[in-house]
Amino acid sequence: MPDLGVRWLFDGKGVIYEEALLVWEDGRVVAVEPNRARRAKIYLRQAIILPGLVNAHTHLDLSTLRAEELPRAACAWLNQVIAHRRQATPEIVAEAVQRGIRESLRCGVTLVGDIAGSPQTLLYLNGACLRARVFVEVVGLSRSRARATWRTARQLLTSKSETTFVRLGLSPHAPYSTRRSLFRLAARSGWPLAIHWAEFAEERDLLISRAGPFRDWLEALGVWEERGLISDYDELLDLITPAPKTLFIHLNYPDTSLKHVLPVWASQGRAGVVYCPRTHAYFGHMAHSWLRWLEQEVPVVFGTDSLASNPDLNVLNELRFLWSRGCPLAPAQLFQRVTHTAAELLGWPETGALCPGQWADFVVMPLTDSRVSNPLQSLLESQVLPQYVYVAGQLVFDAAHSG
Ligand SMILES: [Zn+2]
Repeated sequence: MPDLGVRWLFDGKGVIYEEALLVWEDGRVVAVEPNRARRAKIYLRQAIILPGLVNAHTHLDLSTLRAEELPRAACAWLNQVIAHRRQATPEIVAEAVQRGIRESLRCGVTLVGDIAGSPQTLLYLNGACLRARVFVEVVGLSRSRARATWRTARQLLTSKSETTFVRLGLSPHAPYSTRRSLFRLAARSGWPLAIHWAEFAEERDLLISRAGPFRDWLEALGVWEERGLISDYDELLDLITPAPKTLFIHLNYPDTSLKHVLPVWASQGRAGVVYCPRTHAYFGHMAHSWLRWLEQEVPVVFGTDSLASNPDLNVLNELRFLWSRGCPLAPAQLFQRVTHTAAELLGWPETGALCPGQWADFVVMPLTDSRVSNPLQSLLESQVLPQYVYVAGQLVFDAAHSG
């Protein structure tokens, strides 16, 4: 039975062990116990083991874009991303998804919530060691585009079965871009949903006035159809009520309709918020209300979003970003949100924690100083990357051999 002795181990649920022994077999954790007399075959003196990290929101198929090369105004940025999508050959999409997978594992991310704008994402994830909840994207305001996107998504979801590594979901893209019928169909399909919600101020303006920069932009793209647009966020909440679970991605702008609904849905295990701190900062949005959602016991987890708005796919860097700006949460509470809480929210409850029966998905992080007394805080205050990454008990990344 393989095992590792380590100076520190964080279990993903809030407990930090000093001098721990992690034992696994057939890909699953068998025991986490005190490493008395350091009886492990290998002992990691200056390191901490964490459950594999969870990046709750990304777009692997945009991994060939570079945020620093794109404009930051909403319409201009969206235009560039759309132009990229329209021009991307299958080879470019393949390169992007594979780059995103490699980048994730290098950063210790073993589970992602991915929005798939292309069926190719599933193709490449199926051959990788990265676990994922893949939300197949549906988008379009006009009846004809809605029909076409729904047909493609339905075919994909019925032809692909879930695997040990990939689970499925649907992503009606956003209130400003997606026909109301698509929200209804998606919510009744039985799949979990991920929706970009109140990401841009222009979205709220469009819903209120049916005019403004987003209308001009959608008209210029030739995709505007007012009848397809939802009336307001209240209508959208009604439409998605049948969904088993919804991830509300971003919530960068206040939306009063969610204020009462979200805590209720969260208490039923049907909703959570994904906040992408560095992407939020990239666009210069108003201050985020994630701490207020936490006060109402709504699970908040973190994502990087894509490389079109973030320099890397390292979700630990999202925690470091918050920590450096005076985050009031304790380090263990922050780490819990990129492990156990996020795995549960993505519908992967058998990952994200290190205890018997869970998948042996874990990361060995080196510590800069052997005398640290709070190793999680030390990780937040350093820039270290993983030394080793294991998925299902198998070594999938070794920094010493990564070139
Ligand atoms: Zn996104």
